[in-house]
Amino acid sequence: MTITIIGIGLIGGSIAISLKENGFAARIIGVDQSQENLDKAVRRRLIDEDMDLGSAINESDLIIISIPVNAMLQVLPKVLDLVENQVVIDVGSTKAELMESVKNHPKRKQYIGTHPMAGTEHSGPEAAIPNLFNNKTTVICDAEQSKNDAVELVEKMYNSLEMRVLYMDAKSHDMHTAYISHISHISSFALALTVLEKEKDEKTILDLASSGFSSTVRLAKSSANMWVPVFQQNRDNVLDVLDEHINSLSKFRTLLIKKDFDKIHELIEQSNDIKRILNS
Ligand code: NAP
Repeated sequence: MTITIIGIGLIGGSIAISLKENGFAARIIGVDQSQENLDKAVRRRLIDEDMDLGSAINESDLIIISIPVNAMLQVLPKVLDLVENQVVIDVGSTKAELMESVKNHPKRKQYIGTHPMAGTEHSGPEAAIPNLFNNKTTVICDAEQSKNDAVELVEKMYNSLEMRVLYMDAKSHDMHTAYISHISHISSFALALTVLEKEKDEKTILDLASSGFSSTVRLAKSSANMWVPVFQQNRDNVLDVLDEHINSLSKFRTLLIKKDFDKIHELIEQSNDIKRILNS
């Protein structure tokens, strides 16, 4: 199978490595707005060659769009205009706005909205790694709006990446990801800003950074180009979760002011329940 990947960064590049390695793809073509990234992708052998969008689509059986979610709003309809019978998927972190934007496109049934729930805080083709997706979950959204054989092909592709496939409607996907992914990024960005503001001496941060601080603040290294469009498209859900999070922070603040350490003990024990959910 020949596969075109549009956006050969962390996610597109990691998909390329694994699909080539497991034999699902015989040939991978890269399309990207950055020639520098394409050159790096060829040098790292993530892709076999790069092409302009029209030629790449003509040569391909499957097209994977892996660019920031705001750019997808322009690129997905353009790709659907150009395809004949090929299958098109996107791997964006938000789904409802994009899927709504193409709901009346005549080629809608050839498109499947997906979200492989795996990533790191790094970006670009140099961040692409093998096995990023192993044993993780991918979400396929509103599958009933796509052709059955297209859904089967995409499911096969994700199974070849050793991913579990979950089906969900796009609105529920966006609500759930606000809880499990988007809020942790906002909270990490905010924590990094707090510490940078309070601790002007960067060397002290480095010297004292324990594994707890580093792991909590790791997501604050993530790219603004990728995350701002996610917050823009999922604003309402993220605001709901953020309000809940601010409530929790306020609870700790009030208890500290009142020196109510028994209640703080109780809250921490309640929060430990997350172990049960994550280990189940
Ligand atoms: P990335 O590493 O920054 O890669 C994106 C690539 O797309 C870059 O090479 C970028 O070029 C290029 N690009 C941007 N706009 C483009 C356009 N209009 N046309 C063609 N190429 C374009 O980003 P990523 O982390 O792989 O994210 C890609 C997608 O996966 C996003 O939709 C994101 O929501 C989703 N996703 C991300 C994660 C994660 O943890 N990072 C996890 C799951 C899903 P420039 O460098 O010039 O901008």
